[in-house]
Amino acid sequence: MEWIHTMPKIELHAHLNGSIRDSTLLELARVLLEKGVTELTDVEDVIQKNDRSLDEVFKLFDLIHVITTDHQTVTRITREVVEDFALENVVYLELRTTPKRNDSIGMSKRSYMEAVIKGLRSISEVDVEFFNSQQLNKLCGRKKIYVRLLLSIDRRETTESAMETVKLALEMRNVGVVGIDLSGNPLVGEWSTFLPALQFAKDNDLYITLHCGEVPNPEEIQAMLDFKPHRVGHACFFKDQDWEKLKSFRIPVEICLSSNIITKSISSIDVHHFADLYKVKHPLIICTDDFGVFSTTLCNEYSLAVRSFGLGKRETFSLAKSGIDATFAEDEVKQQLRLIFDSASPEYV
Ligand code: 5GP
Repeated sequence: MEWIHTMPKIELHAHLNGSIRDSTLLELARVLLEKGVTELTDVEDVIQKNDRSLDEVFKLFDLIHVITTDHQTVTRITREVVEDFALENVVYLELRTTPKRNDSIGMSKRSYMEAVIKGLRSISEVDVEFFNSQQLNKLCGRKKIYVRLLLSIDRRETTESAMETVKLALEMRNVGVVGIDLSGNPLVGEWSTFLPALQFAKDNDLYITLHCGEVPNPEEIQAMLDFKPHRVGHACFFKDQDWEKLKSFRIPVEICLSSNIITKSISSIDVHHFADLYKVKHPLIICTDDFGVFSTTLCNEYSLAVRSFGLGKRETFSLAKSGIDATFAEDEVKQQLRLIFDSASPEYV
């Protein structure tokens, strides 16, 4: 559907290391193969794109991290991911990544993030605005994209390590960091471990989004909702009381259709909670999660929603535009985004 490609779009749930081009991953893996750092079966596992359980996805991420976690590669994949989103007419991207420490190559969480920022600065194919004093170039014909960053806390981390990430986020607000994400294997770690760091982040005006309800864990889901995050991702294993709370707090949901289906968190698209949330006009936004790992694109996710839930062109455009309110962007950026959508709207009436 060409109109989905040309429609301005907002992406709010994209993990950097899950959004690597296949060609880049292959190229990097080959280098490691030649050096004997990794085995052919490992590389094949990364490239193979069959259904994977959620647990298998996290094993895959550990492999991807072996392939990608050095400063130069982090810079490269950041540049490519932003370019790829811009090329499918994403006009605002919140990109999330887990700052990583690896003493053996002199990498600290800070230097990891500096490599990400270097990647943003190195983009020449499209015009990027990633902190608010920058102006988007007015050159015609070039894609323009606003980028903001979320620092992820991995559920394997300790309270101390999570706090280090939050402090780093606070120090990097001047380069586009707007919030914190809690992600990583939902079968690992306790909510109480992350709460102090997340509360500290919230008290210091960072926005918070949580991976919530990816596995059945009723107590954690309720505790997360009581924390009143600014958004949640997934919400696959919610029960009635969880939906009630989520809806009464009006917490926007990041919807990742392909990811939920491929990992079997949702048994089939016909029973996906998108339908109910959309019907009751609960704030939601269509996202990719990991376009590399799940072999998708944001256009593909919108097409899937259009086909599965019978959305028309106008409804789809309104849905995409409504994502502006769920962004963690400054008011001026939200205003700019409204102008971008308004100028495109005659195509979608
Ligand atoms: P990174 O933070 O390294 O840039 O991106 C990959 C990481 O994001 C994974 O190691 C994992 O911690 C997190 N991640 C990616 N996709 C998912 C997902 O679907 N669910 C959860 N809980 N975490 C994810």
